[in-house]
Amino acid sequence: MNIQTEQFVEVARREMADLTSRAFLQLLPPVIAAMRKAGMATFPDPDAANEYSRAIRAEVVARLPELLEEFEANATARGATVIWARDAKEANDFILNLALERGIKYVTKGKSMVSEELGTNDVLIRNGIEAFETDLGEFIAQQLHRPPFHIVGPAVNVSVQEVCDLFMEKAGMEEPTTDPVELGYAARLYLRDKFHHLEMGITGVNMAVAETGSIINVENEGNIRLTKSSPRIQVSVMSIEKVVPNMEDAMHVLRLLCRNCTGQSISSYVSIDTGPKKDDEIDGPEELYIVIVDNGRSDLYGDVKAREALRCIRCGACLNHCPVYATIGGYPYGWAYSGPMGQVLNPLLLGLERTQDLYRACTLCGACKEVCPSGIDHPSMFLYYRSKDVKGDGELKGKKRDWKEVSIFKLFTLASTLPWFWNMGIRLLRPLYNRNAENGVVTHMSGPFEGWFRTRNLPAIPSKTFHERWKNIREKRSS
Ligand code: SF4
Repeated sequence: MNIQTEQFVEVARREMADLTSRAFLQLLPPVIAAMRKAGMATFPDPDAANEYSRAIRAEVVARLPELLEEFEANATARGATVIWARDAKEANDFILNLALERGIKYVTKGKSMVSEELGTNDVLIRNGIEAFETDLGEFIAQQLHRPPFHIVGPAVNVSVQEVCDLFMEKAGMEEPTTDPVELGYAARLYLRDKFHHLEMGITGVNMAVAETGSIINVENEGNIRLTKSSPRIQVSVMSIEKVVPNMEDAMHVLRLLCRNCTGQSISSYVSIDTGPKKDDEIDGPEELYIVIVDNGRSDLYGDVKAREALRCIRCGACLNHCPVYATIGGYPYGWAYSGPMGQVLNPLLLGLERTQDLYRACTLCGACKEVCPSGIDHPSMFLYYRSKDVKGDGELKGKKRDWKEVSIFKLFTLASTLPWFWNMGIRLLRPLYNRNAENGVVTHMSGPFEGWFRTRNLPAIPSKTFHERWKNIREKRSS
């Protein structure tokens, strides 16, 4: 199932007609939202905790260039190799060439949104290097060739029967079972075997600490830790906004990330790695490469409103509170990022033209903004994208609009700022407009406003304007 973001409406319609998907969506978001609420309640002051994390993320975006430089210097000083990738091609080329140079046959991967964004798996597989997703949900989604359904549970909507059939076919499971524990065990056996002979692992990064040059990964399955510690070569891929100033800030964002993701105070595994394995250490990679990916983000940095999207920590809380996501699920977004998080990020990364349906598919209810631990004001961003789209200005180019529509709006804007032009326009338009009037009401119209009048009426323009009537009255009074 290869879905493109342009198919948003088509796939959303299909998902809405799918009764299993609908039933599932009635259950999933409220359950995770309740878990989040319980998790947040463990803070002595949840509002203060949120405000602190929002301030950290705002600071990160404001100081992004200097924090990245500081991170690079400290990571390099501790033995890591930092690679800057301007776009997906540069990032994937580096990873692919490294693998080819070292004769790598396959890699294991920890869940990484940015590598989904870059399409790293496809590049490796096309060039003869197998890439095994090792997060259970990602592994299932990968085998089914589906985009993630939810950031926390990429295949949480797939039935156990479907998983059983899949594992029988592709994961060497010998006896059919619908017992989730048995299914998990089968996946573990299959993937464990990959770790035994692993030469190169690829993971994402949840946070990169500028002060120490450390990278932090958060997970519940232990697969990222295995991917990071088993092989000789480790590649960590991060987008530029993953940096945080210091360990204290990182620990606070971590508290918010875990609670907002799954309601946990802390995830089962948190790995903090500073440089590759030292001589006196037994675990860890001998070579650590950190690929810092821009992929269009720095182009937007000058746009103070658009760069607010870079605050996102991918916690997924906004998905679970969004009425649109709760109706259509994650597939229609057609990419790594779904829900309000995707509606904010995808237009920046893919362009306004390709993602119009995403930022228009919003009721502006503000539920996402209310829960966001990064302080993103999603509704105002959607309005911003919509206005940019209408104007077609800036880097975020909008779709090419019908020239008639543009001319009419431009004429209207000009007329409303110049009284003489407005009066002249009214005099010229009045007979044309009023010729469709019946009993003082215009009920239909041909031309560009035809569609608008199909469901609406408007009063006819009076035979005299207010100014003309006022002038008449004054003339009568003075005579
Ligand atoms: S936009 Fe906010 S709530 Fe949504 S995933 Fe990002 S940080 Fe979490």
